[in-house]
Amino acid sequence: MYCENCGKKLNEGADVCLECGHKVNNNQNTFNVQNIPSEYKPVSMWGYFGYQILFAIPFIGWIILIIFAIVHSNINVRNFARSYFCFLIVLGILFVILFTVGAGAVAITA
Ligand SMILES: [Zn+2]
Repeated sequence: MYCENCGKKLNEGADVCLECGHKVNNNQNTFNVQNIPSEYKPVSMWGYFGYQILFAIPFIGWIILIIFAIVHSNINVRNFARSYFCFLIVLGILFVILFTVGAGAVAITA
């Protein structure tokens, strides 16, 4: 472990840095985003925004979406890709229904 203040290497279990006197934080249970394993790391708002734009690209984005939904190492990205996949399916079904109804209406009025 190294001193947060001066960067000097600390002795194991030291409460204070012998170099600069900075208090050492020995509490290993302190919640810190930096300590979260990469597979659980939160995705930033701009991260989600970027993925959303990427997944909205027809064909290339959809292939990336399916790959991410199956094999991405981060659970948050994986779940977001799965959720977006379901959203695209619902959108596709709605599109087919509206197209069918619209085509039917045109056929009747024509
Ligand atoms: Zn120090």
